[in-house]
Amino acid sequence: MKPNDLPSTPWVLARRAARMNPSVIREILKVTERPGITSFAGGLPSPTTFPVAEFAAASAQVLHDDGAAALQYAASEGFGPLRERIAAMLPWPVDPAQVLVTTGSQQGLDLVAKVLLDPGSRVLVETPTYLGALQAFAPMEPEVVPVANDEHGVLASDLEAKASGARFLYLLPNFQNPTGRTMSAARRDELSQAAQRAGVPIVEDNPYGDLWFDQPPPAPLTARNPQGCIYLGSFSKVLAPGLRLGFLVAPPALYPKLLQAKQAADLHSPSFNQRMAHAVLQGDFLDRHVPRIRALYRSQRDAMLAALQREMAGLGVEWNKPDGGMFLWARLPRGLSALDLLPKAVDRGVAFVPGAAFYAGDAPDADALRTLRLSFVTATVPQIDAGIVALAAVIREARRP
Ligand code: PMP
Repeated sequence: MKPNDLPSTPWVLARRAARMNPSVIREILKVTERPGITSFAGGLPSPTTFPVAEFAAASAQVLHDDGAAALQYAASEGFGPLRERIAAMLPWPVDPAQVLVTTGSQQGLDLVAKVLLDPGSRVLVETPTYLGALQAFAPMEPEVVPVANDEHGVLASDLEAKASGARFLYLLPNFQNPTGRTMSAARRDELSQAAQRAGVPIVEDNPYGDLWFDQPPPAPLTARNPQGCIYLGSFSKVLAPGLRLGFLVAPPALYPKLLQAKQAADLHSPSFNQRMAHAVLQGDFLDRHVPRIRALYRSQRDAMLAALQREMAGLGVEWNKPDGGMFLWARLPRGLSALDLLPKAVDRGVAFVPGAAFYAGDAPDADALRTLRLSFVTATVPQIDAGIVALAAVIREARRP
């Protein structure tokens, strides 16, 4: 049997298919769908924030005013008025011609990987980083190299040390998935300059930037050097993920290739969804809607921080205080593994994602094994309270000699 044969079938897998692994996250989400589980695991926005009534009205309006075009094939670049709206929303001057509407920003990651990576190409990523990006890059068979960071973000010195031949550096500067960390303005300046000196382009992924709690995060790195960056954005967190709408902004030299990759992938993102999103975004809807999401997520973050403070006292667990987004990052005491803890937690009705899933490269070290990601946005405050009580009980038990 050849290595890529599927036993007892005529099918032989491509080498890249061997690199595709079931997402740990998806596997965990399956468990968390069981009734009675409080899930801090999935990155699911709170469904209470979905603007259902606005979409009902927009759907009727789009079908009434523009039904045939909404249901017809359309341009791969995206719906013109939506591209204009996206360009106008961004905090640096963007020509709508540089905006490509994508089927979620996840598709942006896939297109970037297809256009920029050969087998063996070096990609630099944060430690840890978004698992979905690692999955999008993996089929292109790159060499994924983690770059070291501190609490302010990626270290420019380590970027310089690892820059040689890198096709790009993948960055999540705002309320990062998985750590909730935000890159400081000073670090953005430093890193942007270091990347330019080293000739390393940046792919900047920013699905969470609007979900700040006290003050907006510093300007994107792309604003500092648009020619050297691809910017990925998403409507999943400010409207609804089921729309599957995101976008990328690419420099003119790169745009045609990304567009060709998009054509091959799905011709275009759904015309109907793009028109509905555009209709919902008319006027000042986001100015009214996003502050409500921020207030809700802030109250849920505060509830989780308070519950951790109360329940984890004396257990040697550490955690951070994210300034926005959906995730909090915690570290178990020495000697414990979040992977080992997960089944016991699920038995007690609470789930999280072991942090090891987010580390690129070989087997995670002991430090990575202690980490876990807790989403504070899907569960209600009473569920957060009960879930943290259950988690503390599991940790207490695991600490017993
Ligand atoms: N990037 C990051 C960092 C994410 O967390 C996610 C969603 N979990 C995505 C991209 C993909 O988002 P979408 O495709 O829904 O826009």
